[in-house]
Amino acid sequence: MRTPLIAGNWKMNGSASLVEEFGRRFADEPLPTSMDVVILPPFPYLDAARRAFEGAPLRLGAQTLNPLHSGARTGEVSGRMLKEFGVEYALAGHSERRQLYREDDEAVLDRLLAALNVDITPILCVGETLEERDAGRTMEVVLRQVGYVMARLEPDQRERVVIAYEPVWAIGTGRTATPEQAQEVMAGIRQYQAGYDRELAASLRLLYGGSMNADNAAELLAQPDIDGGLVGGASLKVDDFLAICQSA
Ligand code: PGA
Repeated sequence: MRTPLIAGNWKMNGSASLVEEFGRRFADEPLPTSMDVVILPPFPYLDAARRAFEGAPLRLGAQTLNPLHSGARTGEVSGRMLKEFGVEYALAGHSERRQLYREDDEAVLDRLLAALNVDITPILCVGETLEERDAGRTMEVVLRQVGYVMARLEPDQRERVVIAYEPVWAIGTGRTATPEQAQEVMAGIRQYQAGYDRELAASLRLLYGGSMNADNAAELLAQPDIDGGLVGGASLKVDDFLAICQSA
């Protein structure tokens, strides 16, 4: 009942020609009929991606957005602008934004609300560092990040949120969480939501992220509480990304 979602987070990578290649290849290859595939390219490629993806089952996402609609925010891009370019999804709280750009839970909430306000589906990213995992604090950290945001949303807003569990130690390291580790945390997130609203918990889409690739995707995606993936490195190679989508 939950539609699988595979999202490719290109980060500060990719090129105009890669956008073209994805459009061409995805137009030709069969994918499972009921699934959503999203590419999140850097901002300058959004317009080209919108055109290149027209005949392909690819949707557009943004890696971040500013909470304001417009104004004196040099270098920033608003949800309203992204919406104009056909963006349907946006990340909020990716660990690189939390760490490198010091976005705390409140900043993450502001961005997630900005996405909801312009009818963009937010993907809330949460996850523990290695230090936190080793200290046995994984669930506490993850549920704080989830709870901070979800507790401040209206019920109809909560229904529109996708949550990506990305252990920080697995991002870009080639060290994937085992399917059991990922399943354990993701079941914990769903259970936590069920404490407030069972129906919402049952329909909540949960993605795993952190060194997901063509070899390990099927096993991760077979877990009962994993509904999709947020893919970084492997989303830059069209063959690998296609293989991941086909295993969903
Ligand atoms: P990775 O990145 O797949 O390269 O680990 C995932 C992410 O940061 O979303």
